Amino acid sequence: MRAFSCPSCGLLVFFESAACLRCGTTLGFSPQRGEIVAVPGEEPGGYVRCANSVVAQCNWLVSADGELCASCTLTRTRPHDADLAGGPIAEAFVVAEAAKRRLLFQLFELGLPGVSTSGPVAGGPVFDLLIAAGEPVTTGHLDGVITVDLAESDDVHRERMRRELGEPYRTVLGHLRHEIGHYYWTPLVRGVEADARALFGDESDDYGAALEHHYLHGPPPGWEDHHVSAYATAHPWEDWAETFAHYLHIRDALQTAAAFGLLVTGPTLDPDLMAAPSPDRQQQFKEIIDDWLPLTYALNAVNRSVGKGDLYPFVLSPPVITKLTFVHDRVEVMGR
Ligand SMILES: [Zn+2]
Ligand SMILES: [Zn+2]
Ligand SMILES: [Zn+2]
Repeated sequence: MRAFSCPSCGLLVFFESAACLRCGTTLGFSPQRGEIVAVPGEEPGGYVRCANSVVAQCNWLVSADGELCASCTLTRTRPHDADLAGGPIAEAFVVAEAAKRRLLFQLFELGLPGVSTSGPVAGGPVFDLLIAAGEPVTTGHLDGVITVDLAESDDVHRERMRRELGEPYRTVLGHLRHEIGHYYWTPLVRGVEADARALFGDESDDYGAALEHHYLHGPPPGWEDHHVSAYATAHPWEDWAETFAHYLHIRDALQTAAAFGLLVTGPTLDPDLMAAPSPDRQQQFKEIIDDWLPLTYALNAVNRSVGKGDLYPFVLSPPVITKLTFVHDRVEVMGR
């Protein structure tokens, strides 16, 4: 994420800001400009808030009253209006929509296909944000539809699931990054299917049977040597989605660190850090990892200093870095 400042007084404000805490200027995020701007804007026509500004606490801006923003318009299904008037379902919806805006901001920044700052794209992903009512809801992806179980917005529920599944990390944004990874498998891997198969395995393996096996028997011993998470061992598609999610985590966290001038020097820091990015995409990702690892060591240490667990509790083995490099290559080829 980038750092933003109030267009009136210059105070640091955030991606989610709806007003400046110092000068009181009403603020919103313009997806087209990729900036926090004052509401109403200076330009003819100006900006107005997204129609979901109250129900989703959305701070994104649109050009005409009553329109939905580039993020809210992608929500195909949501809880009943009566449930969104207040209470735990309404709160869960706000959390999920906020995570979705962060997801989309990054996809726009990377210039990935399927999404646009000006609204829905033919064949692009849509989102069903659901609450279990009788039928259980499973977070997942199917044919471009990303379903989110809104119970995952609840910290107590998510932490219980995290412990039950032995995961070091479970967040709503992480779910969204994983599921969008499934969406991007088809467009990003098209034309390089054999390379993807060599890295992630044979994706034609029976998916349902593979997941069942994973939930019954768990990951194979030594999974850490080849996979970014235990769940990534379940099936090649899950390995891809987990790797893709980590790629987005890494790129976002490094962008945030850079925006705040946080530069960590460590034993693997590339001395040519400030040089122009290499045109060689393998080398580019090597530079990303050389920035990322010392930053995670430092941030993990800072977290421990305040009595919390590691910020990034993962080990990136050489085969995992090779898979991440493949994702980077595909993102750079298909992105802007
Ligand atoms: Zn201000
Ligand atoms: Zn909105
Ligand atoms: Zn998955």
